[in-house]
Amino acid sequence: MFVQLYNTLTRKKEQVEKPLVRIYSCGPTVYNYAHIGNFRSYIFADILNRTLKLAGYSVEHAMNLTDVDDKTIKGALSLVQENPQKFANLKEALLAYTKPYTEAFFDDLKTLNVTRFDHHPRATEHIPAMLDLVERLIKVGVAYEQDGSVYYRISEKKDYGKLSKIDLDKNKTGTRYNTDEYDKDDIRDFVLWKAESKDGVHWHSNHGDGRPGWHLECSAMIHEIFKGGIDIHTGGVDLIFPHHENEIAQSEAAYGGSFVKLWAHCEHLLVDNRKMSKSLGNFYTLRDLLAQGKKAEVLRYFLLSAHYSQKVNFSEDALHQAEMGVEKFYSLWQKLERFKRHSAEASSTLKTASEGARLSFLTQMADDLNTPRALAVVHEYMREANIFLDSVGMSIAQDDWDEIHKTLLYFDTVLGLIALIPKTEISAEYIKLLDERNAARAAKDFARADAIRDELLEAGYKILDTKTGSHLEKL
Ligand code: AMP
Ligand code: ZN
Repeated sequence: MFVQLYNTLTRKKEQVEKPLVRIYSCGPTVYNYAHIGNFRSYIFADILNRTLKLAGYSVEHAMNLTDVDDKTIKGALSLVQENPQKFANLKEALLAYTKPYTEAFFDDLKTLNVTRFDHHPRATEHIPAMLDLVERLIKVGVAYEQDGSVYYRISEKKDYGKLSKIDLDKNKTGTRYNTDEYDKDDIRDFVLWKAESKDGVHWHSNHGDGRPGWHLECSAMIHEIFKGGIDIHTGGVDLIFPHHENEIAQSEAAYGGSFVKLWAHCEHLLVDNRKMSKSLGNFYTLRDLLAQGKKAEVLRYFLLSAHYSQKVNFSEDALHQAEMGVEKFYSLWQKLERFKRHSAEASSTLKTASEGARLSFLTQMADDLNTPRALAVVHEYMREANIFLDSVGMSIAQDDWDEIHKTLLYFDTVLGLIALIPKTEISAEYIKLLDERNAARAAKDFARADAIRDELLEAGYKILDTKTGSHLEKL
């Protein structure tokens, strides 16, 4: 099946061509722990990667780590101030400052079961490629040097603004921007390479000592890793301007050919209707949330359950909804595991329903990653599967078991929830108690059966008695 994805550049849904898809996703700046809003955009990249693979594509995927910019350098300087003797130079301090946050980022990805991509390039490891890009831009006449810094003259790029559709009337060519981030209304020449004194974090260049501007790294690393253009570039909507606009300007002028076929942007996670961000101080890191008792699988489910193009508020209510969704999925998966299997003939109705559910799931995901509709398919299937299981008792035909198992696993190749099942979800001790309670009931020892029921309730489990068997459900 072909996947369709909304292209920010053309403002249309477009088909992703087969067989190989090369993707680049803007990753974190490792100056602090990523917040859960950042993880919305990484889970978006993960869901895209998983959906393409499920639909039969081969995927080569890179996500960068920005380990040199104003904020990381500020952090490095603070380390040096604290302990001036410790570092031979500032580059060492920069590495020491970013290393724990880089490790934390990979740990957090693992906690949320986000795919580890094929490439995770770090900016500081690609400085020669960035300098090469600067020289190419000077050579083709779109960049100029001023006081040891190099700037991109945006008036030289006739279609500058084509991604963000910015109003170029406000163009202030000739005036310059030295910072990495700036406002959409203030369009000026942007910095490619910043002059830096010998006391700062610096690399040697034809223009004296300096360091890269933030926009440079993605263009240079895409070129170096993929040896040409890519099929899909992702990031949060806040990156459309100036970051992605500037990436286009750099790559198209320097390398020619097609840079990115399809730009895919994920909307923001909000708190009380405002973007979750470090600068507003309204953010939660994954660690904060886990320490508060939130569960990784619930956060993952929450982050993927809204369509990526919609803004979503982070709220207790929304997390509660997500928790119920996860519980239903886990409860069916675990119930299935407890079923005994026999060799009776399989149900053709179940087989047809399962095949239909798998196809519908993929169809919804292939339609611009429609996770809300895909989850509706999952829930409808789970309802049918539960009815089926309740109708057959505690033992089931092997082929029927396989069909349900296969279908849940199929959904999970995108949802990525099974790997996050807490190992202690229902311990053997409680399963044994349930068996004892059933034995007590069979022996008409109702006092004992009720006592066990109460003990399980105390431990947080409700007994669900169905016509033909009983199961534990977490309260
Ligand atoms: P930053 O570290 O701020 O450069 O952000 C890293 C990635 O997270 C980028 O792709 C941003 O667009 C994305 N991002 C930042 N804040 C949010 C948010 N509140 N919701 C969704 N994505 C975000
Ligand atoms: Zn980028």
